[in-house]
Amino acid sequence: MASIQEYRCEVCGTVSTSPIHWYVIQCGESQLTVFRWNTTAANAPEARHFCGEADAQIYISRWFDSICSPSKPSFSTMPTPRNPA
Ligand SMILES: [Zn+2]
Repeated sequence: MASIQEYRCEVCGTVSTSPIHWYVIQCGESQLTVFRWNTTAANAPEARHFCGEADAQIYISRWFDSICSPSKPSFSTMPTPRNPA
């Protein structure tokens, strides 16, 4: 059936052909999405692969850094969530 494909962890370099407990992250300049492993997400052109939560978090931290480094918006006036009574 499907040919065997190898995936490589972006952080530690681990390679696996059956990364069922891995995570997939797709990100752009304004958005980052974390997926539990599924081949559709994993094979997307912008997908990045991580062997575990710890390595995924490392990547997310880097992404936050890259976004926040030039200029940081002020969050001092965050809207308060309103619950309709
Ligand atoms: Zn890893």
